[in-house]
Amino acid sequence: RDALDPAHGDSAGDGDSAGDGESTGDEGSSEVRVVGSSAELEGCDALVTFAYEEAFLSAGLSWIHSVQAGVDRFPFDELEERDVRLTNSTGIHGDAVGETVLGYMTSFARRLHRYRDRGRDGEWKHPEWDEPFTLSGESLCVVGLGTLGRGIAARADACAMDVVGVRRTPTPVDHVGEVYTPEEIERAVADARFVAVATPLTEETRGLIGADELAAMPDDAYLLNVSRGGVVDEAALLAELERDRLAGAALDVFETEPLPEDSPFWELDDVIVTPHAAATTRDYYRRIADIVRENRRRAVAGEPFVNRVV
Ligand code: NAD
Repeated sequence: RDALDPAHGDSAGDGDSAGDGESTGDEGSSEVRVVGSSAELEGCDALVTFAYEEAFLSAGLSWIHSVQAGVDRFPFDELEERDVRLTNSTGIHGDAVGETVLGYMTSFARRLHRYRDRGRDGEWKHPEWDEPFTLSGESLCVVGLGTLGRGIAARADACAMDVVGVRRTPTPVDHVGEVYTPEEIERAVADARFVAVATPLTEETRGLIGADELAAMPDDAYLLNVSRGGVVDEAALLAELERDRLAGAALDVFETEPLPEDSPFWELDDVIVTPHAAATTRDYYRRIADIVRENRRRAVAGEPFVNRVV
């Protein structure tokens, strides 16, 4: 606990340490505990967690770091009232999610998911000649041009795709040919072969991709959602897919996770479901540790935190 207080920067921990008990550098070390439940938080000053639990509010914490970039499940007002700082892990997922989205697009264009499905039955079946396409020259609309959106746009641009984007401030962004405002979203998606959704879930973005936006997409378009389930109206999307009004979708995030076994999304040939794994990489924990280590240093030095949300 003392290690987060500038006045006690040298205190050394003597409890269980996470990993190899890595040193935190010149600012002294913190006692690091790996806990299995919020009941074990007694005496902890800071917490690094994947998910939010209500018990965190009364645990006497002064700082919570979210392992996820999306902090839509955290109660901002209540944390502020209790003087608990909240930081998130944005800024580190651009490469992994960018590659995942490129993978979705490549699979749809080159039909890889269909060959894999048929291969399970030993079925050797050449596609119709007009079915596969190449990404080069196809259009992508990226909704939300933060870390994820830029990672996606850079890769699409490298594949010679035409990239447009949607952003609250319509100023230029590298690798994006034209930037639209959220009010212009229907125009932005009107010519898109792919629409990639990469905004946080907020009051403003809940249902951002609804029936009207889906209807504005061309019949041969694919929706790719790597943001949060609530940003896309799932019922409207399912209705469009089931009547072949859209070509397909790749969905990493859902209103209900895990996606229930009886969800119709599992059954559709041109829907790729990934289990909220678009950002997962073996380096994930190191990159989270970099943010936490930097903010611990800042806490000791009395400097403002990076990635601060509350
Ligand atoms: P970020 O903060 O770097 O970028 C988010 C961007 O969305 C910002 O540029 C913001 O201005 C923009 N935005 C907000 N509201 C908007 C609106 N109404 N219209 C258009 N743009 C809007 O965050 P990030 O790291 O890119 O992550 C974005 C979200 O993606 C996270 O909040 C999280 O929910 C989700 N995410 C999912 C995964 C995954 O595994 N699938 C991984 C990381 C992040």
